[in-house]
Amino acid sequence: MSNSTKYVFVTGGVTSSLGKGIISASLAKLLQARGYSTTIQKLDPYINIDPGTLNPYEHGECFVTDDGAETDLDLGHYERFLNVPTSQANNVTTGRIYQSVIDKERRGAFLGKTVQVIPHITDEIKERIQILGNKGDYDIVITEIGGTVGDIESLPYVEAVRQMKWEFDEDCIVIHLTLVPYLAAAGELKTKPTQHSVKQLLELGVQPDILCCRTEHELGLDLRRKIAKFCNVNMNAVIESRDASTIYDVPLLMQTEELDKVVLEKLHLTTKSSPDLSSWKSFLKRLKEPKQEVSIGLIGKYVELKDSYKSISESFIHGGVANEVKVNVKWIHSEEITSQTAEELLGSLDGVLVAPGFGSRGISGKIETVRFARESKIPFLGICLGMQCAVIEFARNVLGLPEAHTTEIVDSCKSPVISMMSEQKNISNMGGTMRLGAYDCQLMTGSHVSNAYQKDKISERHRHRYEFNNDYLSQFEENGMIATGKNPNSGLVEVVEIADHPWFVGAQFHPEYKSTVANPHPLFVAFIRAALKNK
Ligand code: GLN
Repeated sequence: MSNSTKYVFVTGGVTSSLGKGIISASLAKLLQARGYSTTIQKLDPYINIDPGTLNPYEHGECFVTDDGAETDLDLGHYERFLNVPTSQANNVTTGRIYQSVIDKERRGAFLGKTVQVIPHITDEIKERIQILGNKGDYDIVITEIGGTVGDIESLPYVEAVRQMKWEFDEDCIVIHLTLVPYLAAAGELKTKPTQHSVKQLLELGVQPDILCCRTEHELGLDLRRKIAKFCNVNMNAVIESRDASTIYDVPLLMQTEELDKVVLEKLHLTTKSSPDLSSWKSFLKRLKEPKQEVSIGLIGKYVELKDSYKSISESFIHGGVANEVKVNVKWIHSEEITSQTAEELLGSLDGVLVAPGFGSRGISGKIETVRFARESKIPFLGICLGMQCAVIEFARNVLGLPEAHTTEIVDSCKSPVISMMSEQKNISNMGGTMRLGAYDCQLMTGSHVSNAYQKDKISERHRHRYEFNNDYLSQFEENGMIATGKNPNSGLVEVVEIADHPWFVGAQFHPEYKSTVANPHPLFVAFIRAALKNK
């Protein structure tokens, strides 16, 4: 069967956390830089429909796409590397696969047949993989299979890959990412875990075409030869993947190893043009040679698990590079901040960011942080719950409404300055029912935000249930907190600023989801610039 789209599968062996997402994104970057339109998809073997209902401690940040899909954080890496938006089709979970098959069964779509893992679940998986290819927009679809080969959960996915390799023949290859550990006592790199992991794939009928070997030390020729021989791959298809000082180095490391060239050869695509990575390289140079430093506090309740704020910390990297500064992010637990500790914890910072979040834990520390930033005139960026805290703080301490709150925390509070939208009130299902995805926003000319964006009409991604309560808007504006961004259709407040402050911005949307290497987010760039000025 021939198909104009080529499929590359990325599987993982030996252990989790080898960085399949970064390898996939780096390969995609190299292929894109050679002129191939490429997209990346993640298949997640868990039964949740999407990670939207998962605690960040379980699975890190939930990344949101323009079309409102709540997805795996790897999609954030794909967008940051490729500068191309992803969509719901780029992230599929076992839950979604089963839900779709069970819905079809209820509709009678299987005509009385027994519905089974093979072929029905595997067919559904194959269909989801090909949705992206069939759109005709992509030359190459890279599909990353979550989890580790050998897990019970991954079996149907590996079987779907086996079938696709059989059906698509030369249009389909498998890259297996493994670990080559260093045994200090023996003073040696060990290939046995890789051999076993490839054997496990072979038992499932899949011969990997390329092995990407994570290692802390150089893979010598002898080791490459040994791995090639025991795992039935060409010598040039044994790719070394060394630990890097930044994830943004990985595309260049993979280029040195010629991963892109081997992939293209195996897919029978031309390797004539060489990748144009000039702007990527200039980003890296500026990243590694900053002219100054600033220190910015990130105040959140999951700070011990930095993956929970992945897109925010990457946005600081992009925005820092745009300003030629290194942003030292100080991760501060919101539960530690009180009126007594605020000065000590926040006093030396050049700027503070109050993070998004849900629920009551740590919220008083976030509100206290806003007070400190407002009164001390430290540049402030509040995102989603961070913006809502800014509104609550202003209501309590400037408008003199001591019982101001969000109805998320105190349902019957006396001054509900943040409250639920009427269309949210009758919702009982928690999954996928927030205000999600891209919405337009009209900015006020001359505001900090419109100066940052250099335009007045923007579109940003949302993920929340509660909103600024417009019943209070005039009271806020009369006292100096201005709505400088509004949804042009619904009139909902999207951005607030304090007039009498060097740089104080609260955004109901999530700018961090749209920051990429090629396009550092304007709000982060402006926030870092303000922090630099405050230094
Ligand atoms: N919990 C708040 C809401 O649902 C804010 C959500 C967020 O910060 N992403 O409106």
